[in-house]
Amino acid sequence: MNIPVTSLPSGGYGYDFPSVNVSPMTFQEIIKYLEGIPEDDNLAKYMYDMNMLIAGDPNIKNCYIMDIDFLLFYKKLITVSSDLTYTIHSVCPECGKKVSKTISLDTDLKFEQIDRHVMEGATIELGGHMYETIVPRYTDFMKVFQKYLVYRRVTDLGIIKTIALIKDFDLQGNQIESDVLGAKHEDITLILMLQELYYNQLKPIKLYCPDCNAGKPVEERREMAISVDSLISDFFREISINCPIDGSKVLFKQVREM
Ligand SMILES: [Zn+2]
Repeated sequence: MNIPVTSLPSGGYGYDFPSVNVSPMTFQEIIKYLEGIPEDDNLAKYMYDMNMLIAGDPNIKNCYIMDIDFLLFYKKLITVSSDLTYTIHSVCPECGKKVSKTISLDTDLKFEQIDRHVMEGATIELGGHMYETIVPRYTDFMKVFQKYLVYRRVTDLGIIKTIALIKDFDLQGNQIESDVLGAKHEDITLILMLQELYYNQLKPIKLYCPDCNAGKPVEERREMAISVDSLISDFFREISINCPIDGSKVLFKQVREM
């Protein structure tokens, strides 16, 4: 499937190729994927996912990380769904009821496209130092990510992606790391703003328990939020729920009455 770069979160800003290719996985590929995926290791899982995507189209190595995140989600979605919908599940923290919701890429998962001037980067002051920000492409991100994959000084993917927004990590990585990790007061607000601008184009999906919220106005409802990041990493767990078969696919043999 060819996805025009203009429909990616970056809007294709600065890309010299018109589209990227993403195809749904076959059953065999899913089995191989599930066999190979590193358990309980967020960073290795992310690397594994990115490699899977790049194997399908090497040009994805030239994409921004924000676009790669979208493509990861998209590949998994088209694998389990022919109509770009997906059913998510949660358990109500108050009564324990299982709640599910079918979401669709078009209505519930709108990626907001980033403003062009934001893509140009900015100058920020963090921890008393001036930095330039960049919108990291895969190769920029890998310079940062490789280091954390090896040394594991930081294991939170969100923080590593934030560190990758700051230019010249290869020259002053330790200082950037300590300015991000040690951020206080308004620096925290600045970091949250950067994350919001560059990575959080997909808002968490909200579910409501119908029992506990019966008759309550919208503002009093207690919501359960599911982040899209967690959706991406657990995608195939609920494949049978998301790929239900109907009577047209299986016809059991009739037992003849004696
Ligand atoms: Zn409930």
